[in-house]
Amino acid sequence: MTDTVLGTCHHDCPDSCGWVATVEDQPASGVQSSQRVVVKLRGNPDHPFSQGELCPKVNRFVDRVYDPHRLLTPLIRTGPKGAAEFRNASWDEALALVAERIGEITTTYGGEAVLPWWDAGTQGMIQESSLDRRFFAKLGSSRRTGSLCGATASAGIWGTYGSPRAAEPSNVQFADLVVIWATNTKLTNRHLWPFVESARANGARIVAIDTMRTATVEAADEFIQPLPGTDVALMLAMMHVLIRDNLIDATYIASHATGFAELAEHVSEWTPQRAEAICGVDAGVIEQLATTYGNTPQSFISTLIGAEHHENGAMFFRTLACLPVLTGAWRHPGGGLSKSSGSWFDDNVDLSTFDRPNLSDGSHRRGVSMNHLGRALTELDDPPVKALFAWNGNPAVTVPNSALIRQGLLRDDLFTVVSEQFMTDTAAHADVVFPATTQLEQIDVVPAWGHMYLGWNEAAIAPLGDCVPNTELWRRLSAAMGFTEPELFETDEQLIDSALRGIDLDELRRTGFVRIDVEADHNPYTNGGFATPSGKAELASDRLGDMGQPRLPTYTAPTERPEHGDQPYPLYLTSPKHHTRFLNSSYASLPKHGPREGGPFVELDPHDAASRGLGEGDDAEIFNDRARLTLPVRISQRLRPGLVAIPFGWWTNDHPDGQTVNALTSDALSDWGGGVAYGDTLVQVAAATPDNPT
Ligand code: SF4
Repeated sequence: MTDTVLGTCHHDCPDSCGWVATVEDQPASGVQSSQRVVVKLRGNPDHPFSQGELCPKVNRFVDRVYDPHRLLTPLIRTGPKGAAEFRNASWDEALALVAERIGEITTTYGGEAVLPWWDAGTQGMIQESSLDRRFFAKLGSSRRTGSLCGATASAGIWGTYGSPRAAEPSNVQFADLVVIWATNTKLTNRHLWPFVESARANGARIVAIDTMRTATVEAADEFIQPLPGTDVALMLAMMHVLIRDNLIDATYIASHATGFAELAEHVSEWTPQRAEAICGVDAGVIEQLATTYGNTPQSFISTLIGAEHHENGAMFFRTLACLPVLTGAWRHPGGGLSKSSGSWFDDNVDLSTFDRPNLSDGSHRRGVSMNHLGRALTELDDPPVKALFAWNGNPAVTVPNSALIRQGLLRDDLFTVVSEQFMTDTAAHADVVFPATTQLEQIDVVPAWGHMYLGWNEAAIAPLGDCVPNTELWRRLSAAMGFTEPELFETDEQLIDSALRGIDLDELRRTGFVRIDVEADHNPYTNGGFATPSGKAELASDRLGDMGQPRLPTYTAPTERPEHGDQPYPLYLTSPKHHTRFLNSSYASLPKHGPREGGPFVELDPHDAASRGLGEGDDAEIFNDRARLTLPVRISQRLRPGLVAIPFGWWTNDHPDGQTVNALTSDALSDWGGGVAYGDTLVQVAAATPDNPT
């Protein structure tokens, strides 16, 4: 019998595409524990944002689900740490081992010696993080804090608007001028691109601002290329021109903003020439950009993830948010600014229901930044981290300063538990690995961060092998630990029901998606209504001042800068997404993905390559105080002198040195918002020779 099942993509991607899985009853065989088999996965043609299209990687998601390398049974380590040598175990045996070791560790060192770490590898309301919050509260563990990305952008927008909310991303379709700032829409947010093209068809000009020439830049009408981490200087100079040339909406500012006079005085010093010296964009180009922006009332700035990966990441968004206030662009349907739309879901999805403070003994639980995993594993004391739980992510590859993470994971006295679908670099360092289901084997509700549609995900098939959803893992661990509180054992359906607000669950399950409570084409700040105490956009902000941050939009150079004295590492390093077949580090190990992307490489501007005697295909060493990598050179026209790129995502076994690009990247934290400064990394590059051993 053939059937179709509605679902929603779970990947860490703004598009949260709706899908339709075709399932058939087939005889049981091989790894398939169920006779119900997914034979096809296609985009849901009814989904208003993804409109029936999945991306190239998820078009092959069924191959991933049935890949012979899926982990299908619990594993217990038999070899040295990191050697990926395990034996199969039953759930009972693996759970008993974890319970015994966690019991010993918490008795000896206290609950805070246990550290949970997760990210958005599976992005869904209950499978990303729900019952784990209760389990770790009960343990009294350390708390994971911070974010690898979105929270910093939200914190920055909040600095000006009092809320992280900005325009619906698809409102770009109504714009007369589109400024795509620091995001590679065509690669990482592909279903937004038709809305950009719709604006262009109606006469809009597309300007792309990025540190390197991406696929999106290639499709734009104009390209502006600031140096990494200097965009705030560019924005300040734009404000200078807007105010100097009276290209502002004085009525909107008077009604809906505070601090204009202070800001005007502040940016009077920020001439385009001053900004040029910092951001490397010609002063004439800055003048032209500001003039075009100021003369186009219905201008739309589209940004997303990437810009916050700097020490001044929150300030990027705080400053950017001032631009459409100055010009009054918010008045117009196609005006304003978009970023992640995730915060719009807060009214309909109440994640706080998953917290149960009553489960802990009430004492303060130590917070540990997820961006400082390496430091936590190697430096934390009182107590030291003795046990690590990791799920929904592969931090050994995806988190900055990863050489330090690997050093920590290799500790013999660290007990590491990983829930995974594949033997990742992180799982290879575990003591116990639990097999995790994929999105086709579990139910969930998926809030999006690139549009306004809440997705339903039905389980299309039973879990393969002994795999379980994350929620079931926490239930089993609670039972193994002897915990008895009922809230630790709520079912998936109970969890979903408890968190949804004003959503018809029956309709959601029937249609696969529903729009959240936001009017179509809604512009949040047409009539002001900002969420600050004054109800106005704060061009100068006492709230930020009270936090010890600059009251005014302010450019602060990151710690690692080429111009800071005698700098042994003179080149900026960027580590962008590059591939159509990877999603961060997911898929890199699969035969139809990793090999087709080739192996990792370093891109060099022709001038930087020539000055080092490097040509196409030569081996280069890329190094700083954190690590040293050897990679083949690609001579690239995508960069500018002084900027090198190493796309990320490949696993360590694809690298001759056993280290990925994140071994080089900075784990300095962002100014506020808990983010991290991948993009503020400096390196040197040299030809790999016997005199430069790796
Ligand atoms: S990874 Fe993104 S673009 Fe691809 S199917 Fe999933 S949500 Fe859609």
